[in-house]
Amino acid sequence: MTALYKTDSTKRDRLKEFYYQIKDCRLCELYKTRINFVFGSGNSNAPIVFAGEAPGRNEDLQGKPFVGQAGKLLDELLLFIGFNRNDVFIANVLKCRPPENRDPSTIEINKCKNYLFKQIEIISPMIICTLGRYSTQLILNTSANISKLRGKIFKIGKSIVLPINHPAAALYTPSKLQVLREDFKKIRDIFDNYEHPENVGEITEVYGLERIYKARADSAVAGEAEAGELRAGGANTSGAEVDELRAGDANAGEAEEDEVRAGEEKVPESDNSRQAVEDKNQQLGLF
Ligand code: URA
Repeated sequence: MTALYKTDSTKRDRLKEFYYQIKDCRLCELYKTRINFVFGSGNSNAPIVFAGEAPGRNEDLQGKPFVGQAGKLLDELLLFIGFNRNDVFIANVLKCRPPENRDPSTIEINKCKNYLFKQIEIISPMIICTLGRYSTQLILNTSANISKLRGKIFKIGKSIVLPINHPAAALYTPSKLQVLREDFKKIRDIFDNYEHPENVGEITEVYGLERIYKARADSAVAGEAEAGELRAGGANTSGAEVDELRAGDANAGEAEEDEVRAGEEKVPESDNSRQAVEDKNQQLGLF
């Protein structure tokens, strides 16, 4: 395959540095039960970022996203459209596993979301593919149902956003698998028509969010990430989704005011432990 992306080593360096800044995160309670902080994995120059929900048991054990059943399906679907894991970057809304795989809480999402925003800002992908409800609502700043958004094409800054169903939802339902395959074909179509995505379908521009991402990303380091607040940026939207996107404003963190900012201090590291972590990450092929 011809090169899918331009290599820019500064992106890898920035992503790596960001990993070291946040890997000992204690912004929410999930650090107490995690085995591994699951930063994300793949290519720092990826044209496509996939954003899932949160690590599950296998991901927590291995420190890598999407390594269970849903991950196998994701790999198959990537191959189906001519990509593999090393071509894309895969991350989650939450970097730590919620106990018993429960749904992420609003507090956890608000504490963690800047990490995903920063990853997206560094990678600056052509396409952001949100997998399921949580990443879709976060990235589009909406509370609209995923069933209304899936398969529609949005644009935030230079990135096209395509919400699709979470692969886990298709594991045991053939009809959902068929929909997912169609949506993956759409990813490929958008990639092939990046200069003219209108060839693939109607585009809804989501103005304003790019600015918010940038502002958030700039402050997204451990101990500095502010909670909530997408609404504070006054996202200005247009197009068919405008009502839903506005409705999403009400969704962004109400409860976080009382949050205890426990354990925000950074844990200093020795060079040796950094080397050890680096070796482990290389073995895992994180990025
Ligand atoms: N589901 C997700 O959303 N993320 C993972 O990493 C694994 C399963």
